[in-house]
Amino acid sequence: MRLRLGFIVIMLVILSGCAAPAADGRIRVVATTGPIGDIVQALAGERVALRTMLGPGIDPHTYVATESDLFALQEARLILYNGLHLEAGLSRVFTAINRSGRIPAIAVAEAVPEALLLRWEEGDKVYDPHVWHDPQRWRYAVEAVRDALIAVDPAGSAIYRQRSEQYLAELQALDAELRALAGQIPPERRILVTAHDAFQYFGQAYGLRVEAVQGISTASEASAADIRALTELVVANRIPAIFVETSVSPRTIEAVQSAARAAGHEVRVGGELYSDSLGDPDGPAGTYAGMMRHNMQTIVAALAPAGSD
Ligand SMILES: [Zn+2]
Repeated sequence: MRLRLGFIVIMLVILSGCAAPAADGRIRVVATTGPIGDIVQALAGERVALRTMLGPGIDPHTYVATESDLFALQEARLILYNGLHLEAGLSRVFTAINRSGRIPAIAVAEAVPEALLLRWEEGDKVYDPHVWHDPQRWRYAVEAVRDALIAVDPAGSAIYRQRSEQYLAELQALDAELRALAGQIPPERRILVTAHDAFQYFGQAYGLRVEAVQGISTASEASAADIRALTELVVANRIPAIFVETSVSPRTIEAVQSAARAAGHEVRVGGELYSDSLGDPDGPAGTYAGMMRHNMQTIVAALAPAGSD
């Protein structure tokens, strides 16, 4: 009951507000995730006052809005979120905002054609939201952000078009660079084991089989059976390294590591991957391209060297 009342109060605050430009006249834009914020920053730069809700290390699956998020949403001219149930704890807020028609709230990952989406579970119509891990699929999100910016700020349309062309060219170059790096991993080492199932698009793009302890969302706990199944896979394939994630507890990956050791196979933790958030804004993984590069370099360094098993 308390939750329901809280939700009603929240929605009254958001829906009764009035989108105001920032003090310096810039357009207020709220993006949920770092990869979306990266697109907005590149396309709009100084034209917008951008707030990215989910900072480094924040898990979008379980995130709920803070009071200051709600004020930012209330004042926004444009809200950009991933969608496909990534931000599960915010979905009611976005649904209500969309119903009100007061502020456009666009699910940019839902611009990816359905035929290119991977299913969450076999047979159902819910899709894996982690599409940004494939730059080719992420192109559609860039176009969705471009179109959304043009709709709220038509005066900037030439700028948004020109910068989006450049951003898409950079995505293309990044994809080629990552493909070349991935080519260094020998075929028998192409198994990526992570804490939660965020890398299926990445694996499909770069030829890696992906296995995770937890499912696509972090909302449900990994079971002892999940740990056991992953350990068997690691031991059977003599996998040299498995990976923790910056937005997920390392506990389950460490459990697989100790269980593999008990079964006589030494598996290293190959490093930290950015599954669902970018790194520190001033660090090398603080941009989308930097994050993708970090992930691939970390994976290649841990899986590629000969004789490491
Ligand atoms: Zn995730």
